[in-house]
Amino acid sequence: MFTHSTVDLETAIWLKCRLLVEGCSIDQTVRFPEWIHQKKIHLYAHSTESTSNKIPDDLLIGDGESQVICRIRYREKASLQITQKENNYFLFDKEDGQLIPISFPEGPKYEQASVQGHPLSSICSSLGRDLLGITPSNYCFYFKDGKQCRFCEIFPTYQDKVEYPKALKDVPLICEAIQKAMALDERLSHIAVTSGNIRSYDYTFEYFISIGEKLLELGLDNQGGDVLATLMPPDQPHLIERLSQTFFNKIYFPIEVYEYEHFVRVCPGKAEYGYHKIMERLALAKEVFGKGNAYTNLVYGVQSLNQKLDPFSYCPLKENEKGLIAVDQFLRMGIIPAFTLYHFSGYNQIGNIELNSLATYEFFKKWGEKVYESQIVPKEKNSMLFNSHSLSNTLINDVFRMAKGKREC
Ligand code: SF4
Repeated sequence: MFTHSTVDLETAIWLKCRLLVEGCSIDQTVRFPEWIHQKKIHLYAHSTESTSNKIPDDLLIGDGESQVICRIRYREKASLQITQKENNYFLFDKEDGQLIPISFPEGPKYEQASVQGHPLSSICSSLGRDLLGITPSNYCFYFKDGKQCRFCEIFPTYQDKVEYPKALKDVPLICEAIQKAMALDERLSHIAVTSGNIRSYDYTFEYFISIGEKLLELGLDNQGGDVLATLMPPDQPHLIERLSQTFFNKIYFPIEVYEYEHFVRVCPGKAEYGYHKIMERLALAKEVFGKGNAYTNLVYGVQSLNQKLDPFSYCPLKENEKGLIAVDQFLRMGIIPAFTLYHFSGYNQIGNIELNSLATYEFFKKWGEKVYESQIVPKEKNSMLFNSHSLSNTLINDVFRMAKGKREC
């Protein structure tokens, strides 16, 4: 057994990739300090397993310029394990016996606060170190007719596990919570608001417009950070312009799957709205919000599934090939195609897919190079969205930073 005292960025990203794909266990003798809180579930759980030990949200690998933040996905049989020696924490790699030093980011500073009688932490979640996440609604009307995206777990997770008792939160409650959280925690500068479809596409959009207007009215100072709206596009295109006039400065219309026929199978509700309509609205969003501010999302892991969406049909080679074709296409449109990693916590209709760590790493590495070379992200930025310590559950900011570092050194 030997200890790695320094970890370079590439190694840290590789470890993050393994942690996100394979998960990690926690040695039963580990004692976390009091200030580390148990993981809270706002949108999705990240694992089907649990343990009697505390599971923190995130961990940090490396330090200084090469530090990477990573979401913890608990998995008893994983080959990486969180261990402790005196007051120091490590990732123990059962494959090669290495001990990699890790630490834990300080949790949110609003843990004890409440708003309108609700714990603040049941309305907002801290994503990474400086990003405040809000889910106005854990409902999505696609679930009503069984037309939900086949990988989606938002509604069943809410029914089972989420702390806030209602599927829909009121605009004043959301805005008061954002204002309070940002006042109590000076590290927060970015905001991400993500929702399922509420009553109609336009209703959901107007709901976001009300949030953005209220935040403007409150004169919130988020130090020029990114304020992102993630939702389905509206039926009425002019609503996109209206949203851009509020506090939101970034927009994200997730298409999830690139190939049309496959999109129809994986996202039947979105297919009713229309694949080409989403593409048109994305192009419009880019015009309205400006270059570098319009995004889509795709799910890494489902692009290569067969027609039956059999989880065993995932093919790492095909997945990367299809994913990179999509990346090129969206970059040509001036849209940044973010990717999240497929995960299963027991609630979606696809089931468990065992992603391949190495192929996943290679895909994201290529992704970072392509996005960096597209020059869509402003030159002065080190991450493609928020900051390098904001997104612990995907690799996009880390690989973008790595690509930029390599080209500019
Ligand atoms: S649009 Fe799809 S992914 Fe989004 S909440 Fe609805 S079912 Fe889930």
